[in-house]
Order: sequence, then structure tokens, then C-alpha cells
Amino acid sequence: MYIRPFDPWKSKLCTCPFKYTLNVYTGCDHACVYCYITSYIPNAFRVRTKEGFLPKLERELRRFDKRYIIALSYSSDPYPTIERELGITRKVLELFRRYGVRCMLLTKSDIFKRDLDVLSELKCAVGITVTTVNERKAKLLEPNAPSPGARIRALRKAKEKEIPVYARIDPIIPLYTWEDFDKTLKALSFVSHITVSTLKLKPDSKKRMSAKFPELMERLWPLYEKGERISGYYYLPRELRFKILREAEEKVLRNGITFGSCREGYRSFPMCDGSHLVPS
Ligand code: SF4
Repeated sequence: MYIRPFDPWKSKLCTCPFKYTLNVYTGCDHACVYCYITSYIPNAFRVRTKEGFLPKLERELRRFDKRYIIALSYSSDPYPTIERELGITRKVLELFRRYGVRCMLLTKSDIFKRDLDVLSELKCAVGITVTTVNERKAKLLEPNAPSPGARIRALRKAKEKEIPVYARIDPIIPLYTWEDFDKTLKALSFVSHITVSTLKLKPDSKKRMSAKFPELMERLWPLYEKGERISGYYYLPRELRFKILREAEEKVLRNGITFGSCREGYRSFPMCDGSHLVPS
């Protein structure tokens, strides 16, 4: 089955309402340093297509209960570089249109602007992830992803087409991207919902972060050592996390944007993931 119930990595802190998820590709070539898919997908930064994907997906969609939302995607970006050429995600969206599927799109790319014609005919909310609007830092953190500026411009175009739009500021990295939070929020102030999440490390993402950002990690890791270990992830100490989340929440709400937090044990309203934006 390609369409699967969303399983939030068995996190006991996940507050997501029930939904399905679909990964168009296996792996993701944005190669974000902090990414955790490397802990469960072999060769995670090499993108692969799936054999016979579209016909099999169409068979599943015929039987799919249309009350539910399908999220694209949670284990790989639906718009890796190769999507420009292959257009498989576009074909998936066309199938969603044919079968009246409600969906959420989340990406770190701007390629989706090519598909706004289809997206505007769907019951869909479109979201981007932006860790920081600082282009230099984003390039270091997300080496192969289109720039935050390009993502934000594409999302503005979606909004102009009256598509509900949301964003994730995720991960918030203390001493690094957290310093840019006000600017990042300002650049995203046109969206209807923002979900935030602090950096959670797995042993392999910690290794990559330490190799790429040795000085930052020298200051950051001692904080994590004092923090919690939840569902296999290293978390910041609860007090520091909640301080960041409270501040982020206050700023997001001040902009008239609904607020969500992801796997934090902190509040969200009305929904952590922005699924309330998807038309029914
Ligand atoms: S875009 Fe997401 S899935 Fe892709 S490498 Fe970055 S964090 Fe991992």
C-alpha cells in the first residue's frame, strides 16, 4: 500500500489528527544536515522512483475514504530536484483532482509553483518549511534545497490563487536559526498557520551537525546533554524548549496566524499540523 496512516515515528508527543500520508519518492536529495530520515531510510539522500507507482496508486485512490486527508509527504519531500524533470508529483495531484482527494502538501522546494493550476482545483492546503530566511545559513543547513526566498515567493503565488497556505519553522536551532526567528516570521506573515518545532537530534543527525557546525555544536550539545530523551530523540531541556515555544507562540499569534507545535508536549490551536485549513 502506498497510502498509509500517518505514523509519527511512534512519538508519544505527537498530537496530529488522524490522516494518511503518501511518499511519492523514496529518499530526498535536499540533504538537510539535521534530517532524521537517514536513521530509517537506507541511502536516504539518494532519490528513487517506485516501480509501477501511478497505476497502483490509482487503484488505491478508487477505494480511498475521501473524508480523510492525504499528506504529501512526511518521509521525503514531494518535490526533490528530479521532480522538475519527471513530474510524478504533478501526476499524483492530477489523480487527487480526479478522485476528489483532500490533501496537504509540505515542501522545502519552490517547484510546486509549476502545479498551482492543479492545486487551485483541489481541496488542499500548501505549506513550506523554512528554518531561517538567512540565505547563507539555509544553504549550509539544506545544501540542495531551493533558497528560502524562492520557497516563500512560490507560496505567495499560491496565496494569490486563493489556496490556503501554511508554513513550518522547523527545526528551530537555538544559538543559530532561533536568532533569525523574527525575520523569518515577518517573511511568512502572509500565511494562515505556522507550526514550529525545536531541533531534535538522532545519533546520526548529531554526527552530521557536529561535522558541519563544530563550533555551534560545542555550545549546543551540552544543552542537549542536560535535556530529555524522548522516543529515541535528544530534546532540549523542557524549560528551555518551552521558553522558546512560548515566545514563538506569542509572536505568531500577534501576527493573527494560528499556532502549532510539533512533538513538543506543548499546546497548539486549533491543530498542530494546519490540517484545519484543508477545505472539506
Ligand atoms: S527536505 Fe526533509 S526529508 Fe528532505 S532531506 Fe530535508 S529534512 Fe530530510
